[in-house]
Amino acid sequence: MNNGLPPLPTTVIGSYPRPKWLREVIRLRSLGRFNDEDLSEALNDSVQVVLRDHQVAGVDVPTDGEMRRDEMVEFFAERLGGFMFYGPVRVWGPNYYRKPSVVSKVRHGEPMLVDEFRYASSISYSPYLKVTITGPYTMADWSYNEYYKSKEELAHDLAKAMNSEMKALVESGAKIIQVDEPAIHTHREEVKWAVDVVNESIKGINVKVVLHVCYGDYSVIFPHLNEIQVDQVNLALKNYEYEPIKLLKRYKVEKEIGIGVIDVHTNRVETKEEVAKDLNRVIRYLDYLSPDKFWVNPDCGLKLRPRKVALEKLKSMVAGTSVLREKLKGGVEPSIGPTINR
Ligand SMILES: [Zn+2]
Repeated sequence: MNNGLPPLPTTVIGSYPRPKWLREVIRLRSLGRFNDEDLSEALNDSVQVVLRDHQVAGVDVPTDGEMRRDEMVEFFAERLGGFMFYGPVRVWGPNYYRKPSVVSKVRHGEPMLVDEFRYASSISYSPYLKVTITGPYTMADWSYNEYYKSKEELAHDLAKAMNSEMKALVESGAKIIQVDEPAIHTHREEVKWAVDVVNESIKGINVKVVLHVCYGDYSVIFPHLNEIQVDQVNLALKNYEYEPIKLLKRYKVEKEIGIGVIDVHTNRVETKEEVAKDLNRVIRYLDYLSPDKFWVNPDCGLKLRPRKVALEKLKSMVAGTSVLREKLKGGVEPSIGPTINR
């Protein structure tokens, strides 16, 4: 049965720039001049705006832009049991990050993403709204561990907590879940058990599961990608001028591959010709994979780009992909369901 997805489905990684007025509403809320209801209304309105941008661009599998999340670890640490915040730590230059501390056993309490998923899917133009969730290894790596004997032990409890959340999302109708693990390749000596904790976090999640990995040393994680029980891996590739595809081929990564064709670190908007040419090159090079294994996405979340730039980049991504779709005649049927029994 045709699921309605075209060849080379286009998607986003997750985050999208918050409208300027939403940042102002958040500021007014912190000053007590707006109440929680005002903030909640503005957050919902901003999700409408994000989905509209994704629709205008022609993205096949959208997200809600992560409008409710200031930061990808903090958001979950604030909602799981076992975490505490002392104060911000400096990460680079003038940038501060509220690094959470684990002070007792990590517990999953109330669902964290179900309400935002339900709202976004109730207004989504696509039945395949993707939900993003931070993975257990990155959660552990970006927190202080003041309770567990080891980071590995902490990560296993985080895997159980994230697994409960993903089960709640599936029960609410989520059909595609993306686990974000930007830290997974930051400590070579930990990567073996990092793979295990990701697998633990997605056990029993029988919808499409995607892993997002971006900037860093891909030679650490690529040899293990086939051991990770996800259906798809989406990657930052444009930023590296596609060099990592050599490694993908060397290790015969058999997953669906989300090709990052948009550099999220620059305001220069890629042309559609450039996107089409890049895609063609990657698909031809990875000739051991059938064409229905390829998806198309930006390298990472577009959160830090001006909104206008983010929209233009998505439009180029879709337009460039369409050029190539024309050439992929017949028989290319991407799947929306799980390809592995977890
Ligand atoms: Zn990323």
